[in-house]
Amino acid sequence: EAKKQGGNRFVFFSQELANQNERVRLIANNVVHALANQEFFMVYQPVYDLSTKNITSYEALLRWKSPIIGQVSPAEFIPLLEESDLIIPVGKWILRQVTSQLNRWEVEGHNDFHLAVNISVKQMMHPDFLHDVKMIIQEADISAHRLIFEITETIAVQNSELANQILTELNNLGVKTALDDFGTGYSSLSILKTLPIQQVKVDRSFIMKIELDDEKSLVILQGILDIARNLGMTTVMEGVETNEQLDLLKKMGAQKIQGFLISQAVVAELAINLKNQKWMH
Ligand code: C2E
Ligand code: MG
Ligand code: MG
Ligand code: MG
Repeated sequence: EAKKQGGNRFVFFSQELANQNERVRLIANNVVHALANQEFFMVYQPVYDLSTKNITSYEALLRWKSPIIGQVSPAEFIPLLEESDLIIPVGKWILRQVTSQLNRWEVEGHNDFHLAVNISVKQMMHPDFLHDVKMIIQEADISAHRLIFEITETIAVQNSELANQILTELNNLGVKTALDDFGTGYSSLSILKTLPIQQVKVDRSFIMKIELDDEKSLVILQGILDIARNLGMTTVMEGVETNEQLDLLKKMGAQKIQGFLISQAVVAELAINLKNQKWMH
């Protein structure tokens, strides 16, 4: 009987795996044409400063609406773009989009915030990256000081000497650097002292554990916030969804928050309207 059940379960899981593989293949086959078919667009999610009660930056997030598959999460298709090297042209397109959006906002008089862009490690390590960044910033006629480049901890397991050089060059241009999804990767705290980084974005998983009353996670979160602050870095808490989470984060001395409690990522016009709202959080 047990054997039979085990056998059934195996069939069930392998079917699930097959479906999963099929979906990955479907996405991979279609994402190849997404750039040329103009199926990509950018949305912007505000980052809110708890002390000034203002939106101090936005994070640009890529969206893909496929006519065949529908809306697909970047968590699903970005890894495929990275594997196929498509992240290089798509990454350039993203940089052009966000810098020209920033220029439009500047022309309209909106210039008191930063704009954060996610940069794939593969994109950053590409030999043309710095050259392309300089050119795109120049073409868009914006100030590099308004940009934040977000990179993940996986940068540390790559060639960290080269990573250090590139990040330093970005800083020299005026572009600020942020460590994204902090606490999820395999890197140690020492990454904070070895890499030239001005901002730490604490991963949403820490916030989710707050609700579970997970004492140890709270201690670790407090530690991360304290260490980052003492190293002179700003901190952003990702994925804040509830007022309970907000209250706790305030007690812990968090500086900036990003999450559905403030707003989801929205198109540029809606995003900029959020700045005129009176914020009470
Ligand atoms: P990320 O850079 O950590 O971006 C934050 C993700 O968390 C976004 O998901 C955002 O919509 C989501 N999020 C924000 N607040 C909340 C919240 O309160 N609750 C929940 N449940 N989620 C929240 P998104 O847009 O699906 O992006 C997923 C990941 O895909 C990003 O994680 C980033 O790693 C990657 N990505 C997105 N856009 C780009 C891009 O333009 N370039 C690159 N290289 N990667 C991108
Ligand atoms: Mg990010
Ligand atoms: Mg993040
Ligand atoms: Mg994340």
